[in-house]
Amino acid sequence: MTDKEYFDSPQFQEKYHCTVPLGSFCSPRGTEFRLWAPTAREVALRLYSTGSSDVCLREIFLTPEVRGLWRYATGEIWDGLYYDYLVTVDGVTRATADPYARACGVNGGRSMVLDMGRTDPEGWAEDKAPPLPPETVIYEMHVKDFSWDPASGVPEGYRGKFPALCLEDTTLQNDGTHPTCLAYLRDLGVTHVQLMPVYDYGSVDESGDPAQFNWGYDPVNYNVPEGSYSTDPRRGEVRIREMKQAVQSLHKNGLRVIMDVVYNHTYRPDSWLWRTVPGYYYRQNGDGSPSNGSGCGNDLATERSMCAQYILDSVLYWAEEYHIDGFRFDLMGLLDVPLMNRIRQELDRRWGPGEKLMLGEPWAAGGTAARPGTVLAGKDNLSQLDGRIGTFNDAARDAIKGGLWSAEARGFVNGGGLDGRRLACCLRGWTAAAGGTMKTPAQTVNYLSCHDDWTLWDKLACAAGLPAGPGCPPALLRQNRLAAAINFTCQGMLFFLSGEEFARTKQGEKNTYRSPLSINRMDWARAWANRELVDYYRGLIALRMRLPGLQDKSDRAAERIQPAGPSGENFAAFLVDNAGPGSAWKQILLAYSARNDAVSLPLPPGQWEVLADGESSFLWQAPRTVTGSAPLAPVSALILGRRG
Ligand code: CA
Repeated sequence: MTDKEYFDSPQFQEKYHCTVPLGSFCSPRGTEFRLWAPTAREVALRLYSTGSSDVCLREIFLTPEVRGLWRYATGEIWDGLYYDYLVTVDGVTRATADPYARACGVNGGRSMVLDMGRTDPEGWAEDKAPPLPPETVIYEMHVKDFSWDPASGVPEGYRGKFPALCLEDTTLQNDGTHPTCLAYLRDLGVTHVQLMPVYDYGSVDESGDPAQFNWGYDPVNYNVPEGSYSTDPRRGEVRIREMKQAVQSLHKNGLRVIMDVVYNHTYRPDSWLWRTVPGYYYRQNGDGSPSNGSGCGNDLATERSMCAQYILDSVLYWAEEYHIDGFRFDLMGLLDVPLMNRIRQELDRRWGPGEKLMLGEPWAAGGTAARPGTVLAGKDNLSQLDGRIGTFNDAARDAIKGGLWSAEARGFVNGGGLDGRRLACCLRGWTAAAGGTMKTPAQTVNYLSCHDDWTLWDKLACAAGLPAGPGCPPALLRQNRLAAAINFTCQGMLFFLSGEEFARTKQGEKNTYRSPLSINRMDWARAWANRELVDYYRGLIALRMRLPGLQDKSDRAAERIQPAGPSGENFAAFLVDNAGPGSAWKQILLAYSARNDAVSLPLPPGQWEVLADGESSFLWQAPRTVTGSAPLAPVSALILGRRG
C-alpha cells in the first residue's frame, strides 16, 4: 500500500482519528503538550526562552498514547516559554513548530506556551458584534495598505498595523476635518470588514523592513496572528492582544469582522503539518508528486479526517478566541462539500443560525488529486453546498463591467451590451430560478472588485483604452456609478474592495500581491478628492437597507423581480415587489441605461418617488414625485419607489 492509499484508507481513519484538543496548554495547574503524530517513532520537545534563540533550555521526550497522540505534562508553569518538536518518522528526524500553536515567536518558527487569558484586552468579556443588519455589505481590506499612507494621519509607529484599526479620529494630513481609516469607514455604511489574511504568513520578514508588502496568502501558523501587523513580533503575546483590540474596536464602531482563511495550501510544502505527519495533510498525484490545484504546489487533503478536523478546529478557534464573525474561504473549490457543510453546522450550533457568516471562492486554480469520490465545493456542486455559504458570483461581475481575461472586454456599463434576461439573472442573484447556478440569493456574493485582478476603476479605464491612475474622467465616473448601482441592486450579499468607492487605482496593475506599497496603499487624498463617488456608494448602501425586496434570500426571491417594458442591449428596467418589514415603498422600479443618449422611461401608473439617479443616491431622503415618464440620463441608473 502506498502512503497515499494508506492515508486515504478507512482503516487509517478508524485507528488514528483523534478528537483530543491538540497544542500546548497552560493553566495555574501546570503545562501540557499534545501532538498528533501517528507515523512518528519518537517525538522530543525542545524549550527556549525566546522565539529566535538557538540555545535550547531543555529537551524532553513525549510519550506515545493511543490514536497517534503524543503527550507530555508537567506541574510547572511554562507560560511565556517558546518550543518546537523533533519528530522522527521512517528514520528521518525533522524539527517543527507545533501545527496547533496558538502563539509563536518572530517569523513563526517557534511556538509559544501562553496563558491566552493574559492576551485579552480590557472589556473583552463584554465585546459583542453589532446586531445583524438587514443586508450584508462586505468591505475587503488589507491591514497594511489600509493605514500605510502618511496622509492617513495615523502615527508612524501604528501605520500598517493592527493598532491603526483602533484609532477613531484620524484625519487627512491631520487636518481635523476629513476622516480617514476607521473614522471614514464607520460612516460608509458597510456592515462587515473582511480582513485579508491576518493569520501568520511567511512572505514578509517580521524582523525586516516595515515597508515590505504581501497580501499574505501563504499560511505558516494557521492559528496565530501575523507578526508584521503587531508593534512587537518578538513578543508572542503582543500580536494576539493587538488583533483582539482591533476586532474589539471594529465591533465598537458598528462593524463585524470576517477573516480571509486559506486552508487550501500552505506557504511551503515543507510545512509544520508536513514535518509532523509527512504526507498526511496533502494530496498526492498517483506518482506521489504533490497535487497542485492551488497554483502554489501543494493542496491540503481536506477529505482526510484529521485534516478536516484541523480546519474545523481552526475556524472555531478564531470565532471563539478572537470573536471573528465570518470566514471567507480562499479557493473553496479545493475544499470538500462535507467539510464546508460541517463548518456551517458547527458555527450555527455554537453561535446561532446566521450569526457567523461563511463565503468562499467556488473555484480552484487547477485540477486537484482529491481522494476519489470527494465532492469539492466548486461551482459544479453548489446544489450540495449548504445554501447559507456565500459564493463569489464572477458571472455577474463580468457581465456588468467586462471579463477579466482581456483588458478590452466590456460589460453592460461600458458599451459591451447585455441581453436583458442576463441582466435580470444578475439582479436575481444568479439563482437557478433565474437561469443561474445559485440555490438562493443566500448563496450569492455580488461584487465588481476584490483584491485579485484590476480594481473596478482600472478595469473601466483599461476597457476604455485610457491610462489608469491620475485623473478621473467624468465618462468613467458615470460608468462606475452605473456599475455600483447595478451591483447594489442585485439580490444576494454585497461585497467590494476597499477604495472601490473612491475610484481606487493600482496604476493598471492586475496582480499586486507583492507590489510596493506605493501601488497598494489606500490613497486617502484620492478618497477625499473623489468624495462625490464615495457619497454615491454611501447612498446606495443606505438605500439598500430599506429595500426588503432585494434583501430577500428565500427560494422565491427571484419572483419579486420582473421586467418592466421592453429592454435592449444597453437598456433595461425591472419592477421589484418590495413588500417586507420596514418597507416604505411597496414597489421599486429599477432602470439601467448604458446608452449615450438620454432616454424617457415610461412609468407604470401611479405616483413614483425618485430615490436615486445617475448623480445622487440620496434623493430618497427628500424624494420628488414623477408620473407618466421619467428621464434617464446617458449611462446612468434610476431607482424609483411607489408607496401605494
Ligand atoms: Ca509571519
